Amino acid sequence: MRVVVVGAGIVGAAIAFAAARRGAEVTLVDAVGPAAGATGASFGWIGTSGKFPGGAAALRDDVLPHWRRLEAEVPGVEIRWTGSLTWPAPDGPVPGAQLLAADRVAALEPNLRDPSPGALHHPGDGALDPVAVTGALIDAARGLGARTRFGVPVERVLVRGGRAAGVETPDGPIGADAVVAAAGTGMAGLCDLPVAASPAVLVRIPAQRGLVRTVFAAPGFEVRERAGGGLLAAVGCPDGPEEAGHRAARAVAAAFRGTADARPDAVHVGLRPMPADRAPIVGPVPGLPGLYAAVMHSGVTLAPVVGDLVATEVVDGVPAAALAGCRPERYAACDTQGT
Ligand SMILES: Cc1cc2nc3c(=O)[nH]c(=O)nc-3n(C[C@H](O)[C@H](O)[C@H](O)COP(=O)(O)OP(=O)(O)OC[C@H]3O[C@@H](n4cnc5c(N)ncnc54)[C@H](O)[C@@H]3O)c2cc1C
Repeated sequence: MRVVVVGAGIVGAAIAFAAARRGAEVTLVDAVGPAAGATGASFGWIGTSGKFPGGAAALRDDVLPHWRRLEAEVPGVEIRWTGSLTWPAPDGPVPGAQLLAADRVAALEPNLRDPSPGALHHPGDGALDPVAVTGALIDAARGLGARTRFGVPVERVLVRGGRAAGVETPDGPIGADAVVAAAGTGMAGLCDLPVAASPAVLVRIPAQRGLVRTVFAAPGFEVRERAGGGLLAAVGCPDGPEEAGHRAARAVAAAFRGTADARPDAVHVGLRPMPADRAPIVGPVPGLPGLYAAVMHSGVTLAPVVGDLVATEVVDGVPAAALAGCRPERYAACDTQGT
């Protein structure tokens, strides 16, 4: 079976690897190259303690087992299993997480200025370098025979006999039995789904090693240590990247001792693919058999479980019950384009 995957972010890379692993002839196409979209600016938190809206809830329990499987199976998939702290703890129980009193928060984050009033601890969470891991998944897919076409924009989906039959590119057509659109904020050119581009900012802040030990999430920012040293913070972007960078550094300095003089040394804006109801959109696109959509927020967390389920559906033809709440049909006005 020939499968074209459009988009070499972490979601498309995970799908390409999973489909190649099941014996499909995979071609992974990207207008730019690996991790050129949101993935390249991502904070990289494998987070199971946050919100899992809509159909994402059914995927939560499989997130960590699938990342652990890929870590064991794919060279270059390296994860820092530090756990996460959400401070202060949100109201209500969160599966798999524990409410910690201030003294236990201080033991996990000794440089935190004010560990009261406690935090939500998810010991299973981790973080990764999304660019490196996307590259590793693509290398692994290539090792299984997948082809890659980078710097090649997909102009439209080819239709033959009422089915998706491949994609058209400036270099000519690429034929396929199935087309998986994992193009993030670029989905509009491939099918009509309500996906907004939601800006967020990734900020690198110099700091001594061990200053922040978990993935730490507080109102308005998230921060963690990079594998190579220094800190990474993620913040929203209502005020432009430069101000967002300074805001992130101030927020980290207000929360942690030892960062008072920290200035951002790199600021990267990413456009997060954000479905209208914030839940993943994964499944056959209504109106065009053979065209399949996979677009979501929290794509770093979800990529391995979604990749595996998409390959099960597209290559093996076996519907995945866990994806039942993620289907594109929930948007009444979902019409295909590019015919
Ligand atoms: C600052 C920030 C922090 C984040 N933090 C986290 C986090 O901690 N945890 C988490 O789980 N998620 C996080 N996210 C969200 C996460 O990064 C995204 O959900 C994920 O990267 C989406 O991956 P993707 O592969 O679907 O899309 P993208 O990475 O956007 O990839 C889409 C690809 O499709 C290609 N493309 C588009 N149109 C076409 C076309 N017509 N032809 C060919 N190629 C095309 C693009 O070039 C791009 O490479 C964060 C995002 C940002 C910006």
